[in-house]
Amino acid sequence: MRNDNREWDEIRKMEMRVGVLKNANGSSFVRMGKTFGVAAVYGPKSLYPKFLQNFDRAILRCFYSMTPFSVMDRKRPGPDRRSTEISKVIKESLYPAVFLENFSRTSIDIFVHIEQADAGTRCVGINAASLALADAGIPMRDLVTACACGVIDGNIALDLTGDEEKITDCDLALACMPRNKQISLLQMDGNIESELVNNIIKMLLNGCDKIYEKQKEALKHKYEVNE
Ligand code: UDP
Repeated sequence: MRNDNREWDEIRKMEMRVGVLKNANGSSFVRMGKTFGVAAVYGPKSLYPKFLQNFDRAILRCFYSMTPFSVMDRKRPGPDRRSTEISKVIKESLYPAVFLENFSRTSIDIFVHIEQADAGTRCVGINAASLALADAGIPMRDLVTACACGVIDGNIALDLTGDEEKITDCDLALACMPRNKQISLLQMDGNIESELVNNIIKMLLNGCDKIYEKQKEALKHKYEVNE
């Protein structure tokens, strides 16, 4: 058992909602344990200046940020090296899922804002961003779902908390399109025994299946409420 009484392969308690922002084309709120944030999608919209336009597809842009009060030590506001990296990995994990070719010369902008961070913010960001894209009605091959895991005392631990992240040997994040298990992000800090890799990926894919169900529930709920 872990210090929050979860099993090693158990995801933190999740909460997901879509359509949370009135002025965005699509939006979502995602909580995994004590980490939560919102994502907003604007677009597809004409892209200016014109030289940035892609004549055969939309440009996907992602902007990740964390509020200064999202962590114990105040985070300096504004972009930094870490937020640039996370914006890039969120965008790249979503890229294969979106039918960008349907919207030439436009941009689709995704804003991910983390309000409270207790590890796993990039995964919350990906889960929220893909929900917001779906909420905006942008055609996608599938939702994109992400989770991370680590290794603590030889045990593979799914969806680490902040305290667990301090003691893990590694931190491995995976994003995929769960329907056909196509992986669009695989990223790791630290070191792991090569024999563990297959089991880690299996556990992450199973974790993604559970998150996927929750994402679909959030999307269906919007239409049930509005009926
Ligand atoms: N963190 C922090 N201060 C910062 C950045 C991160 O306390 O300025 C914490 C936060 O809880 C975050 C965790 O460190 O979730 C791990 O950050 P990492 O860069 O590994 O990305 P994440 O796990 O959030 O995707």
